[in-house]
Amino acid sequence: MAVPISQMWTVATYVLRKKLAGEKKYPLVLMLEPLFRCNLACAGCGKVQYPPHILKKQLTPEECFAAVEECGVPMVSLPGGEPLLHPQIVEIVNGLVARKKYIYLCTNALELKRRIHEFTPSKYLTFSVHLDGLREHHDMSVCREGGWDIAVEGIKEAVKRGFRVTPNSTFFDGTDPNMVREYFDVVMALGVEGIVLSPGYSYDKAPDQQHFLGRAKSRRLFRAILSNRKKSWKFNMSPLFLEFLMGKRNYECTAWGSPAYNIFGWQKPCYLLQDGYTETFKELVETTKWEEYGTSSGNPKCANCMVSCGYEPSAVQHGFGSLSGFFAMAKAALFSSYKDRGALDLLHDSGFAAHHGSLVEIGNIAPAAAAMAAGHQFEETRA
Ligand code: SF4
Ligand code: SF4
Repeated sequence: MAVPISQMWTVATYVLRKKLAGEKKYPLVLMLEPLFRCNLACAGCGKVQYPPHILKKQLTPEECFAAVEECGVPMVSLPGGEPLLHPQIVEIVNGLVARKKYIYLCTNALELKRRIHEFTPSKYLTFSVHLDGLREHHDMSVCREGGWDIAVEGIKEAVKRGFRVTPNSTFFDGTDPNMVREYFDVVMALGVEGIVLSPGYSYDKAPDQQHFLGRAKSRRLFRAILSNRKKSWKFNMSPLFLEFLMGKRNYECTAWGSPAYNIFGWQKPCYLLQDGYTETFKELVETTKWEEYGTSSGNPKCANCMVSCGYEPSAVQHGFGSLSGFFAMAKAALFSSYKDRGALDLLHDSGFAAHHGSLVEIGNIAPAAAAMAAGHQFEETRA
């Protein structure tokens, strides 16, 4: 596991305090979206589909700080849109660092190299760079030729200047697990702290609705990717969440663990779905009908979802909130090779490669943007 001890300690003590206080629904990571506009138009993104008058809007630094203080999270993710397009992003980041929040600034890195001198390295600040695989795959995914090279230049510059950097990848149906494993070698050689990854989730707004993963397909893909791991690969994620992706354990959605706040307010129920907004976090927790969400709810929108914003908080709360979870987490961190002959066979399965040619072609899609998506059929078969 690549997460620094100080960050793990902060999260562990936070979870324990909440547990001792008897709080059932508490947040771990705030998904703070300061704006929706972006300088890319990725296949699978539901953010940049908003009309122009919405794309022009943005949160002020004061609104960002108020949301963070209101919910009291130890970690803040700054997705978007592209946060580096926000004219006050440096002020927002500095204000969050001053509040000792661990920040993941999610960027496509097109502007990273040019603007990196405006930021100060800190253990609280990580640049989470959107990279969907190797050059060809990433450029197709973000619908921008040359996007991979620019992002890698940004990563190198940030690493050189002493910043924490975690490449952040979303993988869709048709992804070749061999390509992903090669990608892990390439990004770890860049000196990054660790890798972040997630299966895709389909937004109603996203233009590419054909390539999202169902649960069984996700587990099969992540078993092929994450079994027989190399020692050099580090992941900036809960090891129990990685086991969940591989189909080794099951969790229920903890959507309140990663609440989303943006220009509309607190989004019900999660970062992915938009079933209304509330003015306060308290109202979000108290008025959302949580039993209507998550895989076991039968809600078709949640049936295939395995994304980190819903299920990684479940893994973190399990890991830090119980002895059995703690031992499972320690075991997963210590014995992380996951030798699996069947998974090796999957790497030679032409079923993955058969989809490879059906990725979205650059220029063939309408504008889109982000990196978290889900399907619509319920498939609870083993991966
Ligand atoms: S299962 Fe996924 S889509 Fe449904 S509430 Fe949870 S995170 Fe959101
Ligand atoms: S997914 Fe692509 S288009 Fe959407 S916000 Fe991220 S970089 Fe921009």
